[in-house]
Amino acid sequence: MINSNKAIFFDRDGVINDNTLYYTYKIADVVFNDGIFDAMKIFQDNGYLIFVVTNQSGIAKGVYTHNDVLAVHQFMSAEFKKKSITITNYYYCPHHPEKSKCLCRKPDSLLLEKAIARYKVDKNNAHFIGDMETDMIAANRAGVKGHLIESNSNIVELARKICQHEVGVL
Ligand SMILES: [Mg+2]
Ligand SMILES: [Zn+2]
Repeated sequence: MINSNKAIFFDRDGVINDNTLYYTYKIADVVFNDGIFDAMKIFQDNGYLIFVVTNQSGIAKGVYTHNDVLAVHQFMSAEFKKKSITITNYYYCPHHPEKSKCLCRKPDSLLLEKAIARYKVDKNNAHFIGDMETDMIAANRAGVKGHLIESNSNIVELARKICQHEVGVL
């Protein structure tokens, strides 16, 4: 079957929410970055599926638990839902290289590849927005277009440009 879905992958900390705190694992600490709701809406209105792909090594380090991460993601989805935005799925790596080796921690691309396979994503119409070089490496390895942003910046303009195909057409 032909992969036909357009997709936007978002890194979480530093893209969706402010990452000034090193770890965000309490709902009360979630501060959405300016413009993120508008940016997501632009992508959704242009037919993109929306995914979150995030490293959460605090789990491996024992700082917080899977349930903490799931609670934050449920909270985020509920907030986006208020603006009629649907996050199709969240993918996170709970590992840390000092604790256990894995293939899912960015800059590896397994999480992206899982989403691409499961949701039949057309890699020629897939973008990864991240605030770290490791996000860009993961994007390259998965064969999608990476967009490096400044941490916690407003990405509305980038969303418009991607949707107008001014940037990132492979
Ligand atoms: Mg980040
Ligand atoms: Zn992992």
